[in-house]
Amino acid sequence: MIPLVDLTRQHAAIREELLRAMASVLDSGQFILGAQGRALEGELAALSGVRHGIGVASGTDALRLALAAVGIGPGDEVLTPAFSFVASASTIAMLGATPVFVDIEPETFTLDVAAAERAVTPRTRAIVAVHLYGHPAAMDRVAALARAHRLAVIEDAAQAVGAVWAGRPVGAWGDAACLSFYPTKNLGACGDGGMIVTDRDDVAERVRRLRHHGDAGRYRHVELGYCSRLDELQAAVLRVKLGRLAAWTEARRRIAVRYAELLRGLPLVLPVERRDARHVYHLFSVRHAQRDAFVKALADQGVGTAVHYPLPVPGQPLFGDGGERRFPEAWRAAREVCSLPCFAELTDAELEQVAAAARQACERAA
Ligand SMILES: *Cc1c(COP(=O)(O)O)cnc(C)c1O
Repeated sequence: MIPLVDLTRQHAAIREELLRAMASVLDSGQFILGAQGRALEGELAALSGVRHGIGVASGTDALRLALAAVGIGPGDEVLTPAFSFVASASTIAMLGATPVFVDIEPETFTLDVAAAERAVTPRTRAIVAVHLYGHPAAMDRVAALARAHRLAVIEDAAQAVGAVWAGRPVGAWGDAACLSFYPTKNLGACGDGGMIVTDRDDVAERVRRLRHHGDAGRYRHVELGYCSRLDELQAAVLRVKLGRLAAWTEARRRIAVRYAELLRGLPLVLPVERRDARHVYHLFSVRHAQRDAFVKALADQGVGTAVHYPLPVPGQPLFGDGGERRFPEAWRAAREVCSLPCFAELTDAELEQVAAAARQACERAA
């Protein structure tokens, strides 16, 4: 069996270092808002090319607090792609605002900026740009659209830590960007975690307050806040892993190149990397016209896959407006995509096995 992702291999390679880091937190007696978290915030801000990092309890909370910090609330509309993880839209609704869905570019699975422009109304206040699968959205165009209509830009970089667009890191384009440390993400904790990175002093200050009960200091609660911090154990784990992130990302990129060679000529649509992009391949997601048969044929040969995502966000029962005609690319992606094993510890032999299985699966699913 070749798994879609295998965290036990990642942890086996750094087990002693992780245990030492965890033990030092245990011995410090400090678990919330301490030295590890502060250090990690500085390190990830630097990686993102901005001045502030604010650790929170999850990527979802990073989105919710970032949106709140730029002032999103009831009556506001926020543009968000119709094809993403649900949190790219649900966090807008959590604040009482309205997610306005926008179709995607079929090649990169990121926001179609021309469609976003058509969706702007007098109530539009912000855009959530998702760097889906690790490929950055076209941030120069998103930024231009935002400038023209005075919109805030929130980057959903949950899948894209370390990615770059036009020479500038993701995270440095928006008013704020959101990272997730969900265990299977490129930089994953041993539990939940997330971070907001931003260059805006006012946004950083507001998020710091919001994550801690709206506390402006010394138990003076100046607004309704949340209880959403990144804990010290997770921060310590993440700092160990951050030291490996560049090598892991390179390994993912090599896997993508190798897959592209081995899968050439098959009736699969492979991921692209735009000239301006540095893709970090959180997921290596391919399209097949008979996806379900293709997935089954791979499973029969012991290859783990997953579908990210089987339903467009507006088609989720939660939102329920469907929009199959309004978001044809999102719906087509949901029917066609399938992620193949792609993680730093995947061996060459396994990769070749996956490719051979995909070749057979294409014959069977034809
Ligand atoms: C994982 C993810 C999130 C949410 O992150 P959590 O840490 O799981 O809350 C948001 N958006 C995208 C695109 C994600 O992949």
